Amino acid sequence: MRDAAVGEILVQPDELARRVRELGRQITRDYEGRDLLLVGVLKGAVFFLSDLMRHIDVPCEVDFMAVASYGSSTDSSGVVRILKDLDTTLEGRHVLIVEDIVDSGLTLQYLLRNLGVRNPASMEVCALLTKPARLKVALEPRYVGFEIPNRFVVGYGLDHVERYRNLPYVAVLQTEE
Ligand code: 5GP
Repeated sequence: MRDAAVGEILVQPDELARRVRELGRQITRDYEGRDLLLVGVLKGAVFFLSDLMRHIDVPCEVDFMAVASYGSSTDSSGVVRILKDLDTTLEGRHVLIVEDIVDSGLTLQYLLRNLGVRNPASMEVCALLTKPARLKVALEPRYVGFEIPNRFVVGYGLDHVERYRNLPYVAVLQTEE
């Protein structure tokens, strides 16, 4: 039974699969001859990352970090606390940060600064979703799955109070706000 809070579907499962495959191919071309370290941001990016990684055909490793952003549930403040740091070093590695969604961009800006000082050989970002209308900082992920309107979305890893991550599509959450 479909949850009444789950509204319009913005990205269907087949569109997700097709785009993830395309991104994997593009990343494979761009990183040919180099080893890659994918850095996933828990928990939302896990679903996207694991699908994406299966379409990347260069030697690659994966590591995860968990962050908490201070602020309300729908507005991040840019003040980020690391709950779990990476297990591996970034020194001299080609790093691709994999994010589920870039909203204001403040979380990503913090991550880029924090990881940038660890001397990676290169560092790029792959975001499944971006909300261009909400972006507050000057950053452009190298790889973007879909640009979406300014709506709160769930599914394919994205949650609302830990629920809905298992939906196979990306849909708008109907909130009372
Ligand atoms: P930012 O710092 O870019 O404003 O926010 C990034 C984080 O806020 C994302 O990693 C995600 O956890 C959360 N977020 C932003 N927009 C959405 C959304 O539409 N749906 C969900 N589920 N989380 C969101």
